[in-house]
Amino acid sequence: MEIPELYTSSDERLTKWLEELDRGLQHSEIRLYTDLCSELGAVNLAQGLFHVEATPEKKLFIKKYRQALRCGLRVSRLVTYVGYQGLLKLRKLIKDLEYARNGLPATEKNVIVTVGALGALHCALEAFLRRDDEVILFQPFYSFHKDQLLAKDINIRAVTLHPRDWSFEFKDLEEAVGPRTKAIILNSPANPSGKVFTRNELEYIAHVCKKKNLIAISDEVYEYMIYNGERHISIASMPGMWSRTIKISSFGKMLGCTGVRLGYAVAHEALIEKMGCYNEFGVACAPAPAQWGALKVLEKVGAEPFQEHATIFRKKRDILCDALQAARWKFSKPDGAGYILADVSELMEELGVSTSKEVAVHMMHSPGIGTVPAHDCYCGDERDETGKRQLRLCFGMPDKELHKAANLLVHWDRKPSQVSASTWARVGIALSP
Ligand code: PMP
Repeated sequence: MEIPELYTSSDERLTKWLEELDRGLQHSEIRLYTDLCSELGAVNLAQGLFHVEATPEKKLFIKKYRQALRCGLRVSRLVTYVGYQGLLKLRKLIKDLEYARNGLPATEKNVIVTVGALGALHCALEAFLRRDDEVILFQPFYSFHKDQLLAKDINIRAVTLHPRDWSFEFKDLEEAVGPRTKAIILNSPANPSGKVFTRNELEYIAHVCKKKNLIAISDEVYEYMIYNGERHISIASMPGMWSRTIKISSFGKMLGCTGVRLGYAVAHEALIEKMGCYNEFGVACAPAPAQWGALKVLEKVGAEPFQEHATIFRKKRDILCDALQAARWKFSKPDGAGYILADVSELMEELGVSTSKEVAVHMMHSPGIGTVPAHDCYCGDERDETGKRQLRLCFGMPDKELHKAANLLVHWDRKPSQVSASTWARVGIALSP
C-alpha cells in the first residue's frame, strides 16, 4: 500500500496503513499503571523508582555532571560523541571495581558503557540472538526482559520460581533447554520477587550453561541492594563462566539517578566488541556528561562503594513490609532489590473481583496507592494461574511518600471503589452493558 499523504486520524486509509506497519508492540503495564497513578493522584508504588536520599556519591555525581555540561561550552569533548565503548578512564575504573567487588579478571577491553542497563541488554540481544532463537527466563521475571525478547521475535522458555521461597526445581532448568536455546537471562537480586540466588543455585545454572553451551546474560542492577547479610555473587565469577557471561549493571540504580540513563556491561572482549556494534550504530555512545560524572564518582569511592545503599533500602523495605504485615497481606520479605510481590487472593475475595488487575485499579482510587498486577511477569499457564493473584509494590520512593503509602494501607477499609468505565477500559476490562 502506498504511503498516504497527511490524512486525518479518523481516515480509515490511515488506520489501514498503520495496521500494515504495526508489528504489534505494546507499552508495558508498568507504564500504564504509572500513568493512571499520576492521573488519579495516587502514591506511585507501581514504577521502579529508586530514590536515594543525597548520599555522598549521588551529590558528587550531580555536581560533576553539571560541571561537565557547563564546561561543555569551552571543552567540547565533554558534550560531543565519545567512543562507542565509553570513556577509557571510566572503563578502567569499572574494571577495577568489578575486580575488587566480584573478582572478575576484566581489562578496559571487557567493558562497554551503555544507555542504562536496558541499553546493555539491548546490545546483547541485538548482537547474539536471532529471530526464533530461545532464551530461558526465571519467572516471575522483570517484564522488560520479556518485552525486549518478544520485540525481537525471540521465544521464551520459562522456569518457575515457587512463591513459597522462590526456589526452583533444578530439573526444570535443564528440561527447559531446547535445540534453539541460546541464553539464560538471570536477574539476581531479582525484580519482582526480591530473590537472591544462592551460590548452590548459581553453580547449577553455571553447570547448565556450560553443558548446553548457553550464554548467561546476568542482570545484576540490584547488586548493592541485598538485605540478608549475604555478599553479592556474580555468576561471571564462577569457574568457566567468565567467557560466557555478560554482566549488566546500572549507574542509574547505584547513584539513585535512573533518568541519566547510564549503565554498563562486562564480558569477554570478543562479546563486548560485537555488542559495541549495536551501541555504535544504535545510539552512538552513552551520554558523555553522565559518563564524566560517573568517572569522578568511581575515582573517589574505591573498591567498596555504595555501602549505604543496602541500609537505605532495607529501611524502605521495612517501612512497607511493616505496613503490609499490619494490614494482614500475604507476602514474603524480599532479600534484595526494591519490590514486594504479594499474593492478593484474599483481597480479591473481599473486593469481589477475580484478578489482581482489578485490585490494582480499586487501590489506585482508594486508598490511593498505585501498584502493578504481576501477570506480565509470567508467561504460559502461570500468567493466569499465579500472576493474576499477585501485585508488585516498589519501595524505592522517598521515605515521606513511603510513609504516606504505609499509613494509607494500614487504614484502608478494603471496600471496592467507584471506578469509571473508561478506566476499566484502559486496563482492558469491558463492563457488561
Ligand atoms: N534491570 C532490572 C532488573 C530492572 O528492574 C531495571 C529497572 N526497573 C532495569 C534493568 C533498568 O535499569 P536502567 O534504568 O539502568 O536501564
